[in-house]
Amino acid sequence: VTILAIESSCDETSASVCRDGKILSNYIANQTVHEQYGGVVPELASRAHMQNIVPVVDLALKQANVSLPEIDAIAYTQAPGLIGSLLVGSQFARSLAIAMDKPLIAVHHMQAHVLANLIGDPQPAFPFLCLTVSGGHTQIVFVKSPSDMEVIGETLDDAAGEAFDKTAKIMGLSYPGGPLIDKYAQSGNPKAFAFAEPQIEGLDFSFSGLKTSVLYFLQKQQKENPDFVTKHLADICASIQHRIVTILLNKLKKAALQTGCTRLCMAGGVSANSGLRKGLKELGAQHGWEVFIPDFEYCTDNAAMIAITGYYKYLAGTFTPLAESASARATW
Ligand code: ATP
Ligand code: MG
Ligand code: FE
Repeated sequence: VTILAIESSCDETSASVCRDGKILSNYIANQTVHEQYGGVVPELASRAHMQNIVPVVDLALKQANVSLPEIDAIAYTQAPGLIGSLLVGSQFARSLAIAMDKPLIAVHHMQAHVLANLIGDPQPAFPFLCLTVSGGHTQIVFVKSPSDMEVIGETLDDAAGEAFDKTAKIMGLSYPGGPLIDKYAQSGNPKAFAFAEPQIEGLDFSFSGLKTSVLYFLQKQQKENPDFVTKHLADICASIQHRIVTILLNKLKKAALQTGCTRLCMAGGVSANSGLRKGLKELGAQHGWEVFIPDFEYCTDNAAMIAITGYYKYLAGTFTPLAESASARATW
């Protein structure tokens, strides 16, 4: 079974070809136009997707050494995301499906982030817990099968990726700030500054308090010492990262103990964070729990995760009517 997949939910235009569950190509075009605005500008994202989509699909097919007639189905991101961005990918996929008379498979972006764990080896057996941490979501998902998963904990306000990006913005770092905090944190002391830890019951998360705590702390320090951020950048970044990682892993540990499911996976852009990857491995080693983390290229937005999800949906015979429309909402 050969699947062509398209991802365009936010600011990455990506296409991938997967054959029998193996990824043959995963081409990702990052949009740089947003950097100067400090965040993704939806209309500019849609336009960049329109410019990128044909060459990106073409390159993914060429890298996979697969021609269009060899494709059995076309998978695409249906929801959630920026509606203009989603429309470019979904309409392109639909047009191709009509032209080639091939079935269409709509994919939920967050399900796909989770199933990125089924790319490559070793793979987790079912059931497993997945900590999904991205730019818009922070969830603990109990995964029973590729098609049966339940969110058992999630953020009540900001996502973990937003916590990284917004605190980075406070420090004057460019967008997206998450990877920059990760970079500077490498040479900093994670215990240098103690930022607020939220007290949230159950398996839910909160990150807005951390952002405020960082803002007030830096404002106060900069009054006395305008160079405070520049001087202590590594220590501030290490302390912020340490706090976010602690919040995430404490809840994941709690979920493992509560459900008795100790097979732990991670997904989403923030799972590219080196502190979080290291922390999860340590948690697993401490308790003798199994830990799985996707390769970097399958953590942030990519079409390979859409392809693998499309593959499982193909096997289950879950196809999408041509009349189905993209949706910005996660409830689809
Ligand atoms: P969603 O999947 O919720 O719709 P999204 O697709 O925009 O959101 P992703 O592309 O999965 O999210 O992840 C982007 C986020 O990951 C950004 O917030 C970015 O800062 C963060 N991120 C990427 N690399 C790192 C890193 N090394 N350390 C911390 N954060 C990171
Ligand atoms: Mg992105
Ligand atoms: Fe994403």
